[in-house]
Amino acid sequence: MEHPENSEEYKGLVVNKGIEQPSSVNPYLKRKPKKRQPTVAEFVEGIVQGNITILSQAVTLVESVKPEHQVIAQEVIEKCLPFSGNSIRVGISGVPGAGKSTSIDVFGLHVLEKGGKLAVLAIDPSSERSKGSILGDKTRMEQLSVHPNSFIRPSPSAGSLGGVARKTRETIILCEAAGFDKIFVETVGVGQSETAVHSMVDFFLLIQLAGTGDELQGIKRGIMEMADGIVINKADGNNIDKANLAASQFRNALHLFPAPDSGWTPQVLTYSGFYNIGVKEIWDMVYEYIDFVKANGYFEYRRNEQSKYWMYESINEQLRDSFYHNAKIESMLYEKEQQVLGGNLTSFIAAKTLLDTYFEELRK
Ligand code: GDP
Repeated sequence: MEHPENSEEYKGLVVNKGIEQPSSVNPYLKRKPKKRQPTVAEFVEGIVQGNITILSQAVTLVESVKPEHQVIAQEVIEKCLPFSGNSIRVGISGVPGAGKSTSIDVFGLHVLEKGGKLAVLAIDPSSERSKGSILGDKTRMEQLSVHPNSFIRPSPSAGSLGGVARKTRETIILCEAAGFDKIFVETVGVGQSETAVHSMVDFFLLIQLAGTGDELQGIKRGIMEMADGIVINKADGNNIDKANLAASQFRNALHLFPAPDSGWTPQVLTYSGFYNIGVKEIWDMVYEYIDFVKANGYFEYRRNEQSKYWMYESINEQLRDSFYHNAKIESMLYEKEQQVLGGNLTSFIAAKTLLDTYFEELRK
């Protein structure tokens, strides 16, 4: 390049010619193309082949709130349904600190000793508020999370409890289609979420702690009635006697409940997740239950009842969504709510006006 500064007369600093710069730092390094989303057929094929990356991607779609994702997710689920169902689904519940993660870690390793694949899912009703669930968090299950045959997925975080639970149930279907023959669904022992978990598992395991001597006070009767097995954790060190005492209290309390439809008498056991004591006995109990209910037909019956329950849940969820997302309704809700709060309108009339408006909108 010619620079006036390079002429003979020029007395200032000389500008060297310089070298041409290559167009890019490394012309051989291609920009990674944006990952193309698999088609429905590719999703299904990948899942059925047990491809974990594809499975995770599909679960992400299930959890997505975007309508276009939901459309694909539903198609994938439908196509996976024929490959699903072949598993043992166990719900595991307990209050924070009961030892769920410690236990699931050892339970998981125990059930995987016999082979097979385990998926750990979670339903955490608080996760929407806390924006992210601690349940099902991989870091809490140190050994299981690095096991080649495990798949751990935290709770879906968006939506109502019903919505979160539905997503978890759909994820179960995908996991089963991917060959996971053992499914754990973890939840925190606070009430409603237990009902949701109970409605998608074959065995509901309640983790309890021995404590003040009146353990029974704190837990809701409904939750105890759902349990197929109650296990008292931390039966180690000088806590063993207390754990045994708690176990006998639970056994006595269970006698007061009507016999469950399954014909199975819920068992109460003590164990220590941390020291891996009594874990085998818990799983012997679960497998014994499964054999028992498969023999008497209750296993099939319960799964069918659950399908029915989810049909109605889906209808309810979609109706609710359609109603509350209707533009006209959205514009009226606040005003009606204020009128009810101000005592200017009864809640019944407010509801009726809104519903009438909604049905009129649908007719348009
Ligand atoms: P989560 O909140 O229900 O998941 O409970 P964690 O598994 O995080 O356990 C809560 C605390 O209890 C932790 O400090 C554990 O180390 C402790 N812990 C869990 N299982 C046992 C056990 O079997 N024995 C004893 N002594 N401590 C335990």
